[in-house]
Amino acid sequence: MHTLYSSFIGPRRVDLAEARVPRYDLLDVTRDNRLTLQTARGCPLDCAFCGASRLISSYKMKPLDQVRAEIEAILDIWPRPFLELADDNTFVSKSWARKAGTRPGSRRS
Ligand code: SF4
Repeated sequence: MHTLYSSFIGPRRVDLAEARVPRYDLLDVTRDNRLTLQTARGCPLDCAFCGASRLISSYKMKPLDQVRAEIEAILDIWPRPFLELADDNTFVSKSWARKAGTRPGSRRS
């Protein structure tokens, strides 16, 4: 079991602040019905039946500026996209999640 688990560990810890904005502009969105966005990895909770806090990553939130840059890149190619969140637990911090989903300057920011 230890050997199998070790095979999933990358060479270094991932810092989501270093994540690049995906090249959404390379997609032909007429062929997609959704785009995937990751705003966080892992989970700070420790439910016994779930591996999110153990196997995927320690809990990390992507910096809000990074999330917004990715959303803006998506909006550049698809003004009303269907977004799928590829997070283990998006809403651990409700205030952070609200900010991540609100465009700066909008009435709800
Ligand atoms: S992702 Fe959900 S089920 Fe898994 S540890 Fe977090 S709260 Fe529990």
